[in-house]
Amino acid sequence: MVDQEKIKKAVKLLLEGIGEDPDREGLAQTPERIARMYSEIFDGMSKDAKEHLSRRFTVESNEMVLEKDITFYSMCEHHLMPFFGKVHVAYLPDGYVAGLSKLARTVEVYAGRPQIQERMTSQIADAIMGELQPQGVMVMVEAEHLCMTMRGVKKPGSRTVTVAVRGIFREETVLRSQFMACIGRER
Ligand code: ZN
Repeated sequence: MVDQEKIKKAVKLLLEGIGEDPDREGLAQTPERIARMYSEIFDGMSKDAKEHLSRRFTVESNEMVLEKDITFYSMCEHHLMPFFGKVHVAYLPDGYVAGLSKLARTVEVYAGRPQIQERMTSQIADAIMGELQPQGVMVMVEAEHLCMTMRGVKKPGSRTVTVAVRGIFREETVLRSQFMACIGRER
């Protein structure tokens, strides 16, 4: 669980650090608001993707399952600034599938932690591989990072794309092409 008292103290110090008066009217409740907000934003800290993926259903035919445009919001661990965008997840079952909403739930678990996009992408792929044991998984994340667009290099609208490929998706070009076509990235 998130320690709200620690966050409140830290935010107060941070406000003092930038030269603000944390006791003025507009800021007085800010530490408490941020503490509550962080409990929500970082609730993936106390969650495990297993909760969502351990319930499996058997299937007769192992056709590709793809969930695209899963919206996510996360916080970059280098700047504690938001990065957000879409996740596309596909897997080729090996006798079992998960409930469809569970892929989005898995994304939420890993987005709800201080993250880097590359690791989040791998963690989603590895969780599905580990729990569902499909023939393969492919995950693509497209995101805008506020630490890049509102400071530093300042390139608004630029997106970072990361891909994780596991199992049969590594070997079969056809499957990767199918994935790209399904998410509308066909050449
Ligand atoms: Zn950053």
